[in-house]
Amino acid sequence: MHIVVTGGAGFIGANLCTHLLARPEIERVSVIDDLSTGFRTNLDGVDVRLREGSILDPDALDEVIGDADAVIHLAARGSVPRSVADPLASHHANATGTLQVLEAARRAGDVQVVVASSSSVYGANPTLPKVEDMVARPMSPYAGSKLAAESYTIAWQHTYGMPTLAFRFFNVFGPLQPAWHDYAAVVPAFVSAALAGRPLPVHGDGTQSRDFTYVATVCSVLTDAVVRRVTSDVPVNLAFGTRTSLLDVIATLEDLLGHRLEVAHSPSRPGDVPHSQADNGRLRELFPTAAPVPLRDGLAATLEWFRTQPTEPVRSSS
Ligand code: NAD
Repeated sequence: MHIVVTGGAGFIGANLCTHLLARPEIERVSVIDDLSTGFRTNLDGVDVRLREGSILDPDALDEVIGDADAVIHLAARGSVPRSVADPLASHHANATGTLQVLEAARRAGDVQVVVASSSSVYGANPTLPKVEDMVARPMSPYAGSKLAAESYTIAWQHTYGMPTLAFRFFNVFGPLQPAWHDYAAVVPAFVSAALAGRPLPVHGDGTQSRDFTYVATVCSVLTDAVVRRVTSDVPVNLAFGTRTSLLDVIATLEDLLGHRLEVAHSPSRPGDVPHSQADNGRLRELFPTAAPVPLRDGLAATLEWFRTQPTEPVRSSS
């Protein structure tokens, strides 16, 4: 099999390439990435062909997707606050970009497309756990663009008979996740601060909760999805129904490190949802053998990886 990973130089994408190549059914993995937030170095030692280019460029997509069996589409402009600052850029990359990937797959013919959507689409809907049939109520431009992306993905299955699968990722964490920019996700921000002896930055009081998913768990499910060509005409939550507050994450890190951690609170951010937890019934039906890495083990592995990293932001995208 030949699998294309869009956004394959990013955090989840680079972890995924390693997972894909470990499967005997997969002979070749190609990546298209514009290196806007990803790093060439994330793919050091990983046997993939990297095409530096944008998913908004149809020629670049045709070049990479031409003879693929499946595309795992992860390329996106992530982060809620970044989308609040520049909503059109998020729309272009996430909504129009997904449309371009779907169209390139349609031109290539018989290509499965697996797309990364986000739990943020549930937004202002307060019901827990989040069931895929619930009304989506996006609270940010990012969430709106992800809802558009998954809607196009499902529509391409109905309209053109394309084998597609749209996953709603929840809070994914693990090695390679950057901690050094203004829009860093919470786990890498906490882990890097903890290892550097800085206070852990908490927006709000820290009681907000998330369904944290270790990156290897996500990669295993994505790999299985392309190897077995799993499709769905409705979106699928990719998380396991755990709900952990930020304060609980901090307590686990304290336990793993063996000392107390200082916390610095700042105001809540616009567009952030207070709580998130997946219903995983649909995921279990499609992937009955999927087994999540427990949060504590994932945090321990993440700490180990961060210990091997420079303590200052010196990584560059080239
Ligand atoms: P990331 O920023 O590390 O990876 C995204 C990659 O896409 C980067 O390598 C970036 O350079 C690339 N990219 C961005 N715009 C592009 C373009 N126009 N053309 C080509 N490449 C482009 O983020 P990630 O955390 O690895 O996220 C991967 C996917 O999962 C994204 O679609 C994101 O929205 C989704 N997601 C992630 C999480 C999470 O917790 N990390 C949660 C929900 C959804």
